[in-house]
Amino acid sequence: MVEWDPPVREYDFLFNEVFDAMGSIEGLGFEDFDSDFLAMLVDGWATHAKEVWLPINELGDKEGLNFQDGKITMPQEFKDAYKRGIDEGWLGTACKPEHGGMGVPTFFQAVPWAEFGTSSCMALSVLPALSIGVYEVLDSHGRQDLIDYFASNLATGEWAGTMCLTEPHAGTDLGIINTRADPQSDGTYKISGTKIFITYGEHDMADNIIHLVLAKVPGGPEGTKGISLFLVPKYMPSEWEGDLEGISNDLKSDHNGVTCSGAEEKMGLHASPTCVMNFDDSTGWLVGPLHGGMPLMFEMMNRERVATGMMGLGLAEIAYQNALAWSLDRRQGRDLKGIRDPNETADNILVHPDVRRMLLEAKVNNEGCRALAAWTGILLDQMHSDDPSVSEPATALVALFTPIIKAHFTDLACETASTCMQVMGGAGYCSEYGVEQFYRDVRISKIWEGTNGIQALDLAGRKITQDFGKNLRHLMWPLSEFIEENRADPEMAEFNKPLHQGARGLQQITLLMIAEGMANPHFLAAGATDYCRYFGNVLLAYMWARMAKICLQKKGDPFYDAKLASARFFFKRIYPETISLAAKIQSGPKPLMDYPVEMF
Ligand SMILES: Cc1cc2nc3c(=O)[nH]c(=O)nc-3n(C[C@H](O)[C@H](O)[C@H](O)COP(=O)(O)OP(=O)(O)OC[C@H]3O[C@@H](n4cnc5c(N)ncnc54)[C@H](O)[C@@H]3O)c2cc1C
Repeated sequence: MVEWDPPVREYDFLFNEVFDAMGSIEGLGFEDFDSDFLAMLVDGWATHAKEVWLPINELGDKEGLNFQDGKITMPQEFKDAYKRGIDEGWLGTACKPEHGGMGVPTFFQAVPWAEFGTSSCMALSVLPALSIGVYEVLDSHGRQDLIDYFASNLATGEWAGTMCLTEPHAGTDLGIINTRADPQSDGTYKISGTKIFITYGEHDMADNIIHLVLAKVPGGPEGTKGISLFLVPKYMPSEWEGDLEGISNDLKSDHNGVTCSGAEEKMGLHASPTCVMNFDDSTGWLVGPLHGGMPLMFEMMNRERVATGMMGLGLAEIAYQNALAWSLDRRQGRDLKGIRDPNETADNILVHPDVRRMLLEAKVNNEGCRALAAWTGILLDQMHSDDPSVSEPATALVALFTPIIKAHFTDLACETASTCMQVMGGAGYCSEYGVEQFYRDVRISKIWEGTNGIQALDLAGRKITQDFGKNLRHLMWPLSEFIEENRADPEMAEFNKPLHQGARGLQQITLLMIAEGMANPHFLAAGATDYCRYFGNVLLAYMWARMAKICLQKKGDPFYDAKLASARFFFKRIYPETISLAAKIQSGPKPLMDYPVEMF
């Protein structure tokens, strides 16, 4: 039986004590939203996830979905759980009230919603996550008639969304996609092509599926500059009484030429369909400018990348909780410094330093990531401020943090799920105890939404040099200020000094990457993954130092004392890996690129 206690208290601490979420969103249009409402939401969603989603997670893994004759049938329990989410309004909480959403700040949906949804049932949580992504792109860039028709159903979850980028020959390299969009005299386009690996491309959970499809209009520029974005529904409902331009009576029939010709068998996420989708002269509408599809799709993908980082955290958290529960019961061997429980045949495995190492690495990385996620969630709201002194730094920091959240969180999550399995020994490997499912489910998070290698290249090759280093400056200002403020505080020295060293190291390594990378792009590419991890470590160090500062004022309370102990563990046992990461980056591309191909 899987255990999960949603970390509600953690979010109370982060949103109210570490980041002042309410103060941060003042003037952003959330006047009716206060900390009591937030607490109620976090609590309510935790209860829903635990009571409705968690019980179907294992069933989804075991039963999976059924693909037959182009149709995918989901387990009835999934359909029921999803329907309850719609009925109780839990799916599109951050969507606008006029579209049926709750209109709450983005940080709720992007952070605790995403974490709890994934911990309880990742296979289900990706469905509303995608639908909300489609809703947001449509709401920001779609024509008003498209918004009027599609937005509400996407926001509530009655209709589902997908993103269709990947083709058999084009995964990372989207510039070479073949799907084409032929303009029609009525303003619509006919979309034709095959997409693969499309999450929830076909299913029977919602009445309609709205695909956002990347395609090329013939005659456009080569590569990614010739890609446009189209909205292509599975069904063109017959009750559509011609509100939309381009809908002829012929089209008011059932199908829009969108078919599913296969569903992948995969390592995990058995109840999340991964589909081959065929578009055969399907009617679509342009969203955003012609040939301007990539920036829009990246807008959606950036949100999904933060969501993917949260998926990592969600699964890492539930894996940790189950490994901890197991270790509290399991007795093997004796404490090396003497028997702890003489009345038992063996001591509890928590007496072993190596078991503690594993559990603490999991716990402390999870808590550090959650803090960075909470900050980023608030920045996602602040990006929309009318005040440039708020929106500009928020936009810069979100740009900088997105690849790190995607790559570092999911790298850590996969390590954590594996470590938690290790804590449980053979039981961890057996399905009965759940952790092996989390291990299989979380693995995709390093691959989709752009592989982690590509995230690292985005960070090192683009985000740090963007606008002459503006993103990095917006981080270094508050970071340096924090270090300076705490320099004279002896209690903070154990956190502040290594943070200072790491921040200085980050600046030096960044300069090295830029200088060497200009002369030799292989230098930058060879060091990118280690650089991303280095950067992730410095950000988590900043989070731990900020949390420690608060907890030092409240010593004596077990919650804050535990946080201080975790901060100490982070700085002593996790953070020192920055030294080896720096050495690897400095070694440059030679050990990789001089290795003769024939010797591989
Ligand atoms: C379960 C699942 C669900 C998915 N859902 C969706 C979805 O809903 N919609 C959708 O459109 N796609 C989806 N995908 C596709 C997913 O986003 C791609 O698999 C991913 O982007 C990687 O593309 P690829 O598999 O073609 O790998 P490739 O692009 O072939 O990459 C192979 C390896 O080469 C590396 N590599 C490639 N190019 C470079 C480069 N320029 N520099 C350095 N390294 C490079 C990669 O990092 C990777 O390690 C899904 C995939 C899976 C497995």
